[in-house]
Parts: sequence; C-alpha cells; structure tokens
Amino acid sequence: MLRPPLAASLLLALVGACPSSEPELDAGALAHEGEGEGEGEGEGEGEGEGEGESEGEGEGEGEGEGEGEGEGEVAPCSAEHVEHARLAPVAGEVFWQQIGLGGFALGEAALLVLPDGTRALVDVGNDSHDDDVLDALAEHQSDGRIDLLVLTHHHADHEGALTQLLGQLDVGRVVHRGFVDVTPAANDTVVAELCAAVEGTARDGALCARAATGCGSAAFGDAPLACATPTVIAGAGTSTLEVLAVDGWVAGRSYQAEVGGLLADDSNGENARSVVAVVRHGPFRLLFAGDLTGGGSDTDPVEAFVAQHLGDDLLELGADVLHLSHHARDTSSSTAWLDALLPADGRPRSAIAGISTAHLNSPHASVVEAVLDGRLAEGALFVTTVAPGGTSSDELIDAEGGSVRVATAEGGAAVYVQAVRPDGSVVHTVRASAARACRP
Ligand SMILES: [Zn+2]
Ligand SMILES: [Zn+2]
Repeated sequence: MLRPPLAASLLLALVGACPSSEPELDAGALAHEGEGEGEGEGEGEGEGEGEGESEGEGEGEGEGEGEGEGEGEVAPCSAEHVEHARLAPVAGEVFWQQIGLGGFALGEAALLVLPDGTRALVDVGNDSHDDDVLDALAEHQSDGRIDLLVLTHHHADHEGALTQLLGQLDVGRVVHRGFVDVTPAANDTVVAELCAAVEGTARDGALCARAATGCGSAAFGDAPLACATPTVIAGAGTSTLEVLAVDGWVAGRSYQAEVGGLLADDSNGENARSVVAVVRHGPFRLLFAGDLTGGGSDTDPVEAFVAQHLGDDLLELGADVLHLSHHARDTSSSTAWLDALLPADGRPRSAIAGISTAHLNSPHASVVEAVLDGRLAEGALFVTTVAPGGTSSDELIDAEGGSVRVATAEGGAAVYVQAVRPDGSVVHTVRASAARACRP
C-alpha cells in the first residue's frame, strides 16, 4: 500500500543534493514553482492564475462529487511521490503551513491562506514562539496582515504568543471558544491575556456566548452558555473555513447536556473543549481540532460525539488532510474519529501533526499505528518533528523541526503535502487526488 522505505531515503538524498531543481514538474506542480525561490505573493498569484484552472471554475464545480463528475466522469484516484519546490500560497487555492516551532517549549501554530486570499493563523504557539511564527509569515508575505486568528483552546502551547503577535501583526478578528466553561484545566494567564486583548472589542470572535461580561468577573466560566455551531468564519460558496464544534457543542447539540460533564481539573478537560473546524475548497477537505480528546488516557470521548454529528458532507468521504489532534498523542485520534475522517476506502489521504521537541514521546506509537493501518492508501503521515521518545516509521515523513505544508491545486481536485526542513530543503512531497474528485 505504502511506498517502499527505500524510496523515501533515495528521494531525500536527491532533494537534499539539489533542493531547487525541478526536472519533472507537471502543470499542477508549476503553479507552485515560483514560490520555491522565495518570491513574494505577487508572483505566486500571477502563476496561479496562469497555470492552474481559474478560481471560478474550481468554485463552481466543487460542491458535488468533484470536478470529474461535472464532466460526466470521475478519474481514478492517484497519489504519487514527486519532486517539488517548497509549497507556498497560490491565488485561488488553499495553503496550510504547520509551522516548525523551535526551542524546548510546547507549541503548535499554523498559517492558513484561503482561496480568496484570507490569511489566518490557527493557534500561535507558546510565548517563546512568536519569532518562529513571524519568520513563517515573512516567507510568504511582507505586510504583517492576518485577517483571522483562530485559537483552538486556552492552553499556553496554542495561545501563549498571542500578546507578542498582536503587537507586531495587523490582526483582524480573533476567533476563540469564548470565556465560558473555563475551568482550572485552562491556563489562567492566557485566558486573562486573551480576554484583555479582545473582549468588548470589534475583533472579538467568541464562538460561545456568556451572560456576564468583563475579564475576571465573578461569573467567569459558569454563566449559561450557547455555542454557535456550525459557523462559517471565512470564505464563501464552496471555499470556506467553517467551525463545526466547540466546547463540546456540535450541530447545536451539547456533549455536556447529552453525554455528561467534561473533565475540569485535568488539562485534558480544556483540550476536550477545543474548536473543530474544516477548510473546504471545491472537493477538498482539511480538518483540524486542536487538542480534542477521544477517550484515550482517561480523557472524555468527545471525538465520538462530534463525529456522529459532522454531517453527511464529511461522513461520506472523510477528510483529504486530517490534522492529528493533541500533537498525535493517544488522548486523541480514537477509532471513531479516524473511521469518520480517514476511512480506509482506498482513496489517498494524508495526516499531519504539529509536534515540538518538548512534546516528549510524540507521536505516540498507538496513533502512528492506527493512522498507518491502511487509512492513507498512497497518502502519508507527516510530522513537524518526532520528539524524543516519539515513534517513527519508514512510512512517516519527518520535517525534523521544519514545516509541514499543504497546498491544493486544480480548484481543490488535487492536493500536495510536503515536509520542509528548518534550512528550507524539501524532505518529501506527495501529490494526491482529492477524495471527492476520484474513485478508488
Ligand atoms: Zn491543550
Ligand atoms: Zn497542545
């Protein structure tokens, strides 16, 4: 099913020797090529328009079974390991970069660029990671504009760099789970900083409402709450970023009302309240869920509850790219979650994980085994790093502390996933059909 182990090392050697050579690029690959040389946004947009299909085409055809079907035929699924320059944003396509975060601090952050040009950060890492985030942004843009900051939950490894970044970036909306149901499982400092920075301002994008207002109010955390799910927070038509679940709410239903209370003291109690969101572009789907818990290591099994209510769109064909929650630890990636989002149906898929050196033992062996158990077909598992004690595999692609990048092509009918080392050299790239645009 998966590529032979030798292929990875061979390709690694080839790419390492000559990272910018592009002997065999196809048309889709060329749409990204210019950015590999470190060019700015302008050139990338020009090439994207010229080489790929127009944005209009991609959006118009996306919602059904993908592009092929619109033309009366669905192409066979394909996935191949290709040589490719560093992926970068292209106008009219989705770009995701799981940012490599340095030093010995827990952290996770990603840059997301939507087809309409909306730029978002999904989590921002710890308070020592602001420079890593800014460096990642500087590779792709110069104006410091971030339209949307999505914070999956109130832990320092996801929100800690907020204050520094707000001082250095031109940030639009800050979407977060809200100041409801805040327990000792959250990080006091990051909650206070976020609240002080956004509550009562136009940039506050709290997903859950509370009766009391004011940071540090006595009602902090225990006011009656309601969370808006699902909610499209960016994009339009068939190219959107949509929140599906938050604080145990999904499709208007509440885990705590229907199943039971979530942990309050253990840090996994805050993880259980993470934002779950999907990036859609035509047939393409990328799903992320912060540190959402699935029942492993005595956590609350929120994944199974959310999975039941994801809606037909995701339940029928899963995700093309699944961000593995909680840094690929065994608290997450339950069988129910993986069955829903990475069904072993012969279609190529990829899984990605944001891991920093301090996430000792990540990725956990049980997660690596479960993900590689026939679920990805010819896709692959990519991690920003394998932390000390973490599980590796010949079938796992390690960015060695660098970034994991995802870029759609052909209006979302195809997707590239790539690992890039901290020095900018490409480790490996996979190009695959989107699940909704192919038949196994
Ligand atoms: Zn967490
Ligand atoms: Zn975390």
